[in-house]
Amino acid sequence: MEGNRTPQRRRRPRRRRRRAPYRRVLGMLKLILSVAVIWFGVQVVLKAVRPPEEPVAIQPEPVTISQPEEVSSAEPEPPAVEPDWKLRLVNRWNPVPEGYEVELAQLPNGEKVDKRIYEPLMEMLEAAKEGNWGELPIVASGYRTPEQQQKLYEDKIGAYTALGYSESQAEELTQQWVAPAGYSEHQLGIAVDINGATYDVFLWLQANSYRYGFIFRYPGGKTDITGVAQEVWHYRYVGAEAAAEIYEQGVCLEEYLESRGG
Ligand SMILES: [Zn+2]
Repeated sequence: MEGNRTPQRRRRPRRRRRRAPYRRVLGMLKLILSVAVIWFGVQVVLKAVRPPEEPVAIQPEPVTISQPEEVSSAEPEPPAVEPDWKLRLVNRWNPVPEGYEVELAQLPNGEKVDKRIYEPLMEMLEAAKEGNWGELPIVASGYRTPEQQQKLYEDKIGAYTALGYSESQAEELTQQWVAPAGYSEHQLGIAVDINGATYDVFLWLQANSYRYGFIFRYPGGKTDITGVAQEVWHYRYVGAEAAAEIYEQGVCLEEYLESRGG
């Protein structure tokens, strides 16, 4: 029995040896192929993963808001940091800083605004077409020089005195609508009075302006705090982050700044 087994054992290895190179090559090919498939798959996955990085990085505004704080905390010196231009408070109790300078950009109709709000403003107006019978709303008034602001103020007083009001009454009434020179957000170049084809555009703006960084600045319910009567046409830029918070919290700019510690 042993004698019969040994020849069989010898034969088998021979067959295996013959097949082995073929199998090895096949095995190598399989290995190479599977590595290639895995590599290709990884490349496809990487490509699919990469694009979202760019849209996420496109939102520079929320990032720039937090930058000054990070920079000032990194450097030990705490000198008077210029307040965030987007959140500068101007109302009848807080004047425009002396010699405030604005770099302006001109709108299609000739009105001017701080060039930093040009793009979000145009984007908002373009989107607001859907609430304005398909027409592009107009910026009836953007940036104003102190002289222009003063003239508006005096003209308004004149209009009230012409109606028979006393000088002091006319001045009081005027201040509900028009600020004297030095106390108007329009002098900052980041506030606009918008005019539409229909009143619906104001409702659209109230619901959507925050998406573009603008706030409905003088709501009727906040008159005591803002010092200004409801102005559905007046929009003020504060940046996307603050605008969303102000919108969600249902507060006015004065309340928002107060809650942030002045
Ligand atoms: Zn205005």
